[in-house]
Amino acid sequence: MTRAWRLETQLIHAGDPHPRIAGAVSMPIFQSSTFEYTGEGGYHDVRYMRCSNTPNHVALHQKLAVLEGGEAALVAASGMAAISTTLLSLLGHGDHLLAHRSLYGGTFDFMRKDLAKVGVECTFVDADDRQSWSKSLRPTTRAFYVETLTNPLLDVLDLDGVVEFCRAHRLMSLIDNTCATPVNFRPIERGFDLVLHSATKYLNGHSDIVAGAVVGKAERIVEIKHKLDHLGGALDAHACFLLQRGLKTLALRVRHQNESALQVARFLESHPAVARVNYPGLDSHPRHARAREWMRGMGGLLSFELKGGLPAAERFFATAEIPINAPSLGGTETLMTRPATTSHAGLPPEERRKQGISDALIRISIGLEATEDLIADFGRTLERV
Ligand code: PLP
Repeated sequence: MTRAWRLETQLIHAGDPHPRIAGAVSMPIFQSSTFEYTGEGGYHDVRYMRCSNTPNHVALHQKLAVLEGGEAALVAASGMAAISTTLLSLLGHGDHLLAHRSLYGGTFDFMRKDLAKVGVECTFVDADDRQSWSKSLRPTTRAFYVETLTNPLLDVLDLDGVVEFCRAHRLMSLIDNTCATPVNFRPIERGFDLVLHSATKYLNGHSDIVAGAVVGKAERIVEIKHKLDHLGGALDAHACFLLQRGLKTLALRVRHQNESALQVARFLESHPAVARVNYPGLDSHPRHARAREWMRGMGGLLSFELKGGLPAAERFFATAEIPINAPSLGGTETLMTRPATTSHAGLPPEERRKQGISDALIRISIGLEATEDLIADFGRTLERV
């Protein structure tokens, strides 16, 4: 029944234990590292928090699987724990990975340095240039990794092309859906094999935990769970509880953020001090038509550059009143950051330049404040840059 419900109902009720535990309407927190032995068969089934099987994990896994339309889900101690564990589970020495060149900085760095150390080679390609993919394909290529909306430039890649290519060449297709969320885009419905999230961001939505998730076919999720059991990056039960609670308001939050970000993007684009705005909901965005066709909303993230370059960006940070100068995204507070100094600081400057991430680029994660107040604040700030 749960799967036939609309997203809003799934967000509230999917994964609820039946019968309710002691009648509790809200999922209780099982803050117990270990549980009485009841004849479990193997190492990965012992009832121990590192094996991600407390009642909090079970409920959360069910909810996330339903939300992303997958058979099963697994949470992890951070987005990077979910991403690194998934890649280490799928790939081994001698394997080759194709990945889009513009990924979250931590993911890119993990692929470039850590995967290389265990003998997995990565080729970074332009995920919008179908012609180029075949040239990078090797007999050892196992998977293709992309992000729904690239961070911080908000590009919308040729995702259908990636799925077709993976099917034709028997590759696993992986997508980080953090910035879109299942409210705006459901990758499994479009043919992707595995969906990853930094649940730290929109899924939890309150900037108070770090968490990650992976969703896909049950068999694959079991393999990834076994790797996570060994690497030890399980999510704590209290964080599971917070994530489950945060998810209940996901649709309300994301729809507000979609609407607010569009208005802010339009305002910034019309301002004489602004050189360029990256937001897929704008008519001027090179992938606007594709984004409208595929996505239910364009998300709460945007980035822009000022005509005054880096000095103006620094004045913007010093003057704006409402946005908090902090990395991360997807919370209730509007956050601003310069990706060159935070999320993408791990990339060599040359690589950042290649990807189009200038030192002056400002990324904004729109929160839940009144849009009018944000626009008024940005307006006042832009008069002084
Ligand atoms: N994926 C994306 C798109 C991100 O923006 C981030 C973090 O900013 C991550 C993954 C990593 O997630 P976490 O910080 O929860 O480890």
